[in-house]
Amino acid sequence: MRYAESILEMIYKSDAHMTAEQVFLALKQQYPSVVLATVYNNLNSLYQQGKIRKISLEGYPDRYDKLTRHDHLFCRRCGKLSDIYLSDITGELERQIGFSIEGYDLKIQYFCPQCRAEQRESNSVYESE
Ligand SMILES: [Zn+2]
Ligand SMILES: [Zn+2]
Repeated sequence: MRYAESILEMIYKSDAHMTAEQVFLALKQQYPSVVLATVYNNLNSLYQQGKIRKISLEGYPDRYDKLTRHDHLFCRRCGKLSDIYLSDITGELERQIGFSIEGYDLKIQYFCPQCRAEQRESNSVYESE
């Protein structure tokens, strides 16, 4: 997998929570002949090897992320993900559940500052979608 290294590096350097499509477009600058299917294959195998995180949210394409322990703020209006670094609650969860876990996925829902501003501008009751 000659692209795996580049893809891995790209995901670890970025805070953008890139989709396969975005990874593809970025990789294409380096390797003009790369095809989207190859990017999907590489992302899947990196995910399966436990080298990257996949974030799936209903209504949005899967996004990929570094493994570094962190959680996410998720904007309910535009779908934007932002990283937040909260204390690790693995131990606490394990105590309550009674066995060890592989990890957890915390998504805190909110309206991002930009969406809040837009809502204020349109100055109407929240009623999109
Ligand atoms: Zn938003
Ligand atoms: Zn993240």
